[in-house]
Order: sequence, then C-alpha cells, then structure tokens
Amino acid sequence: MSEVVYINGKFVPREEALLPVEDRGNVFADGVYEVVRFYGGYPLALDEHMERLVRSARAIRLPELNVADLAQQGLALVARNEVRDGTLYIQVTRGVAPRNHAFPPAGTEPTCFMIAREVSRPDESLLRQGASCISLPDTRWARCDIKSIGLLPNVLAKQEARERGAYEALFVRDGVITEGSSSNVFAVRDGALITHPEGPQILPGITRRLIVGLAGEEGIPVDEGDVHRETVSNIDELFISSTTTELMPVVRVDDEPVGGGRVGPITRRLQAAYERLIERVRAGNE
Ligand code: PMP
Repeated sequence: MSEVVYINGKFVPREEALLPVEDRGNVFADGVYEVVRFYGGYPLALDEHMERLVRSARAIRLPELNVADLAQQGLALVARNEVRDGTLYIQVTRGVAPRNHAFPPAGTEPTCFMIAREVSRPDESLLRQGASCISLPDTRWARCDIKSIGLLPNVLAKQEARERGAYEALFVRDGVITEGSSSNVFAVRDGALITHPEGPQILPGITRRLIVGLAGEEGIPVDEGDVHRETVSNIDELFISSTTTELMPVVRVDDEPVGGGRVGPITRRLQAAYERLIERVRAGNE
C-alpha cells in the first residue's frame, strides 16, 4: 500500500505531497512540530501533544490552530496508512511568501502537513542493557521550550553522538545537564528522581510528564533540580525519555560508567510501569 500524506486539508500520495520552495519552513525554519506515538493503532497522550502544539504555535505567533480538526485528520491519516506501531509527525509553518524576515501579509495561510508511518520500538537489548551518551555544550537558543523545527544544534549533537558510538548527546549549560538532543534526562539519587525543571531551557517532554506521573503512582519521589555533569559518575542511575526512545537507561556518559555501568532498580521499575502503560494504550484503554 502506498503511503498517504496529509497536506493543507488533503490526503495525497507521498510523491505528490510537495511544498513550494519559499515555504517559510524551508527558508527560515519558521514553524513548529509534534510527534505522537501510536501503539496498536492507538495514540499515546494525543491531547497533551496537541496542547503543546498550540503552545508552540502561540509562542511563535502563528494564527490560532484548529487542533481538534488536526487531531481528527491525524487519526484518519494513521488509519488510512494502517499504522499500528508508529508515529504521526505534524508540522505547521508560517506559510509561503517571498523571502523576507518579517511576517508575510495577514491572511497568508499556514502550511500544515502530517506524515504517519510505522516506526519500530527502541532496540530491546538497549532497553535491557542501557545506552551510552556523550555530553556537549548546550549551544541552543534561550527558548528550548518551543518545539521549533529549527533543530540544527540538535542535529549536529546527535550526529556527533553517532560518530562517537553513542546513542544520545546530553546538553550541558553552566555545568548542568539540561536535556538530550531529542530527549529529557532523569537521574536517580538516594531513591529519588531528579530532572531539570520545566522552563525555557528544556522542551517540556510529554514522556517526561508521563514518567513523573508513573513515579508518583510507584511512590518514587521526584525533585525538579540540577544534575551536574561533574557528578554523573556518582549518581545512582540515569535515563532519558522521549516519545520514540520511551524510557532508555543510560549506563555510560563520555566513557564514565554511571551506576556501576548497570541499569538500576528504580529505572527498571519505571520501565516496567511504562511497559504497562503501553499495553493499556494497545488495548485501547488509555
Ligand atoms: N527534548 C527535546 C529537545 C526533544 O526533541 C524531545 C523529543 N521531541 C524531547 C525532549 C522529549 O519530548 P517528548 O517526550 O514529548 O517526545
């Protein structure tokens, strides 16, 4: 079956889903996006993703989005492509206009497209044994809370991680780990989770919030605070989270073992809780 893409209100074959060269997403990265995970054809936290899309769109002063309609079209796209375990990518830009930094004339329609396709779950052996990360200076702008399509620092960081044989790059600002290039970061110290507070320095991850909720149900305390890069080899456990990475243990940062290089018990408990959440989604119960 050939892939169908949603673009500006229409469902078209992928080969026909073309954008004008002067779309502001192309020339200025003037847009925002979301990625929603599906398990067994059902979305995980669709409303939360749509709410964040609205917040990102408002933050860059896009015209108000009709997210109820977008969500409905997104679900229809997932169904048309018969996606079971996959993702829905949603991108909205400030539309098409001759290149000029200032906003295009009022009434310029935003461009919106969505892609729905199968995406496999993270590698099982990595989920079991844990991944390695590198750390890099956080060279990004001061509004990392906006899910902007301008991802060049994240792209360069992820590529450097790949080239150094690591799974993810952790950004460090003023000695503090903020987040990963495409994930949030949690540490475990003395039985409690520590994660960077929400604010302009990180993306408010949907998976991060789900994990904070699961920790509450498990009776695991959560502190929003600083994890210093220099203390990484002394913390008990470390993991990263994202819509596609789920809850991935980290056992090494820049070749220093974390938690003795083994996945710790709190990470395991939260992974099991996350797995149960996925099973509830798959059964249509979330
Ligand atoms: N931080 C960054 C920079 C990201 O790109 C992502 C992935 N979108 C996350 C955190 C995790 O967010 P979520 O759990 O909503 O996927």
